[in-house]
Amino acid sequence: MRFATLLALVCLAVATSSHAATPAPDLILRDTITDKAYRTYRLLPFDVPDGVKALEIRFDYTGREARTTIDVGLLGPGEKFENEFRGWSGGNKRSFTLSASDATPSYLSGPVTPGRWQLLLGVPNIRNGQTSEFTAEVYFQRNEKHGLPTEPAPLKSEAGWYRGDLHMHSEHSDGNCATKSGEKRVPCPLFLTLDAAANRGLDFIAFTDHNTNSHVKELTALQPYFDRLLLIPGMEMTTFQGHANAFNLREVVDFRVGSAEVPDWNTLLTEAKNKGALVSINHPRVPTGEACMGCGWSPNPPADLSLVQAVEVVNGNDVESPVTGIPFWHEQLQKGHRLTAIGGSDTHDVTSKSVPPPGRIGIPTTVVYAQELSIDGIMAGIRAGNVFVDTAGSRDRKLELSATYRESTVAMGGQLSVPEKQSVTFTARIERMTGGTAEIIRDGKMTRRTAIPAATHSWSFEETSDGKHHWIRIDVRDAAGNLALLGNPIYVN
Ligand SMILES: [Zn+2]
Ligand SMILES: [Zn+2]
Repeated sequence: MRFATLLALVCLAVATSSHAATPAPDLILRDTITDKAYRTYRLLPFDVPDGVKALEIRFDYTGREARTTIDVGLLGPGEKFENEFRGWSGGNKRSFTLSASDATPSYLSGPVTPGRWQLLLGVPNIRNGQTSEFTAEVYFQRNEKHGLPTEPAPLKSEAGWYRGDLHMHSEHSDGNCATKSGEKRVPCPLFLTLDAAANRGLDFIAFTDHNTNSHVKELTALQPYFDRLLLIPGMEMTTFQGHANAFNLREVVDFRVGSAEVPDWNTLLTEAKNKGALVSINHPRVPTGEACMGCGWSPNPPADLSLVQAVEVVNGNDVESPVTGIPFWHEQLQKGHRLTAIGGSDTHDVTSKSVPPPGRIGIPTTVVYAQELSIDGIMAGIRAGNVFVDTAGSRDRKLELSATYRESTVAMGGQLSVPEKQSVTFTARIERMTGGTAEIIRDGKMTRRTAIPAATHSWSFEETSDGKHHWIRIDVRDAAGNLALLGNPIYVN
């Protein structure tokens, strides 16, 4: 009997270490439960050291075939049950995570305080003569990057173009929508927006409520249901001197730019960077005023743009308006800041039927070439810059651009070094824009136009290097002349 138990434990340990992608647990807790424990509660203590940001606990037990059932809950340091209670999942889960910003449903988010924690076990059933071996693996996450002990698996593991909306708000900030009956307006449930995004066939969204991370827990809880829509936690850092989205941010950052604690934007940008976030300047040319407080990008002193990775060049349907972010972006490119152009709907009301689709979700769509559909995959894709903005939010329009010099070929966002008088071959490929026009833009100025005669249109053109720095990108207009696809640049020298 004793030998069999030992063998079971050894097997478990081997199974754990052979799972290549999973780090080894920090602790393994074990309990042997006999029929004497029928209808009793038990505690399995463990110590959490200093500096732990998140906990993950995975557990299992033997004897399920004999109808043994072990319930699980968690207690943290505290005096009374109400203070120490951190959640109870009964028999409905085999793992859970918990951090300051989020927790698996059944559990409460909150700081992972150092000290004595306890797994609380309940035994609603174990038959006479049965014994069950309970094992729990405890993982400590110390870095702040994900706020979760282990990264969730990608929703899709193949490389490709993924379509998403990178800017939206819910009841966690100023999202506001009609009630079910339509009779009044209320803070808008986050789920409605996610459901609308999924119905539009988007691959990813970033939820960017203003100056809070209270929505992060809900995104974590809803991700398993949205098995084809990647949910990226973010925060619109909303200051009196401009707005910027921080993507892949689970924790809060101190947004009080202009205060004693956060004297300027660089302090905030540095904190966002240290927490692993990707930053995009939002609607830079929307004027600041009583209609939109602090909306225009106006850091004083000027922000260090090496701490910024992207610019929201299209906000909702402003692409052809005087406040479009395109000229601002071009100015930064001219100064040598390689910022990726992205877009976001800035949806605040997904029930609005005034402009289709509901709440304008997915208008515009940012299309990112990524190695996989995961948060890290989309973040890396935006940083790399092989990205275009589909201003009408189509499901199938495509814009690809590459450039070749000798043996080197790069895509949008890439750079080629080309000596003076040598020529570079650019190859463009556009899908689903029949009757439209492609415009080649060099250093912010349109240099030539090409008609698009077919549903799939590929062509090449040459640019001759003068040995200096240039950037070349493509815009595509539809048959009516509206800017439909906006491409990111390829950098020469
Ligand atoms: Zn804003
Ligand atoms: Zn916003």
